[in-house]
Amino acid sequence: MELSPEEIARLDLRYVWHPFTQMQEWLEAEPLVIAGAEGSYLIDARGNRYLDGVASLWCNVHGHRKEAIDRAVREQLSRVAHSTLLGLAGIPSALLAARLAEISPSGLTKVFYSDSGATAVEVALKLALQYWQLRKRPEKRAFVALEEGYHGDTLGAISVGWSETFHRFFPPLLPVHRLRPPFLIARDLGGGSREAEALGAALEQAEAHLRERSEEIAAIVLEPLIQGAAGMWPQPLQYLPGLAALAKRYEVLLICDEVATGFGRTGKMFACDHTATSPDIMCLGKGLTGGYLPLAATLTTQDIFDAFLGRYEEYVTFFHGHTFTGNALACAAALASLEVFEQEQVLEQLPAKVELAGRLLDRLVKPLPAVAEVRQVGLMIGIELARERTAHPVPFNAAMRVGHRVCMEARSRGVVIRPLGDVIVLMPPLAISAAELEALVDATAWAISRVCSSL
Ligand code: PMP
Repeated sequence: MELSPEEIARLDLRYVWHPFTQMQEWLEAEPLVIAGAEGSYLIDARGNRYLDGVASLWCNVHGHRKEAIDRAVREQLSRVAHSTLLGLAGIPSALLAARLAEISPSGLTKVFYSDSGATAVEVALKLALQYWQLRKRPEKRAFVALEEGYHGDTLGAISVGWSETFHRFFPPLLPVHRLRPPFLIARDLGGGSREAEALGAALEQAEAHLRERSEEIAAIVLEPLIQGAAGMWPQPLQYLPGLAALAKRYEVLLICDEVATGFGRTGKMFACDHTATSPDIMCLGKGLTGGYLPLAATLTTQDIFDAFLGRYEEYVTFFHGHTFTGNALACAAALASLEVFEQEQVLEQLPAKVELAGRLLDRLVKPLPAVAEVRQVGLMIGIELARERTAHPVPFNAAMRVGHRVCMEARSRGVVIRPLGDVIVLMPPLAISAAELEALVDATAWAISRVCSSL
């Protein structure tokens, strides 16, 4: 017997604890229950359609129910859904690793699978720590990360990525030194066109730090090109290669967390590709399976891999793994997703969409009085709302929940979006059509106007 939408909602309210959700607030309203999806749309249990404006938390790539991916998962299901990679190999996991090595920045040839962005980062951090011990530099135990970096919610990931709001109950467990990102330095300098100045200052700060303390630093960890969860903070293009050069000079590993930026999000396959930067370790998740199934990967160089080689009884093995590491269904979905990238020339079609998004934002969103700044890198968009649109925007009182209210208003126009505080995020599936993109930006602008004109 099928349950009614009301009955499903009641079960949710009674039993489900939702992520990143103030449950007191959640329990006061009827939840939107998603029962299906198609292309760029989510469909609720009553049959209403909503544009998936944040690609189901930044991961959907080719749209929902993409025939090629559905088929690949079904075909894999008829062979085997899951068998372990501990002591056994698998077909989709081997094929996918080879494919990832082919399309990733040069030098990244080894693939360690896990299940989510956060675990990909945990693996990266543990690899870096063990690597330096195996290389007889055990004092290299600290990490350098960016202020307000976000790398997931497990303990290692929240140590390198710190957000006062999210993580204040969990003091960092790892020694982490923070660099001020160019975005904040530009604001410190008074905003406007301070990018070049901020870039110089940010790299100077990084160099001064490494010059003094590289002996104790294992790796620099960052989200390349744009810090997503901080509120879509872009970096000047030369920041990443600048940091990469410093990392090399001072013998520190470079870990690029491409969990959010990977798989076309920034206009190229990886954010690193904009400047042909090759990190020592790269973390992938979210869009890896086209946004279908939980799968993550941590890619490394041959040099890192080699450090872990030895006889069993030397115990230099990387003793890390998860039950579902390299899951066959997820790897099959990922392979199919990469095939779609090729067959449908997804990357080639992106510049036109990115440009259209920019034009729509310029026309419909930027002129709104509550919009302090619109930031866009590829199809990662942040619209910062503020009480005053000065160089250092004056925020709304947090209790007003302006970002949240805008997103709820957009929902009444058939759009699902989710804010980061008072930054409205637009991050649709890459497959979004021009008409859908226009509907998304239009509904967002309408919702901002409606909420902010009543404040
Ligand atoms: N790294 C980055 C850059 C992210 O944006 C996220 C998630 N938004 C993560 C890691 C964590 O990924 P997951 O939620 O799959 O653990």
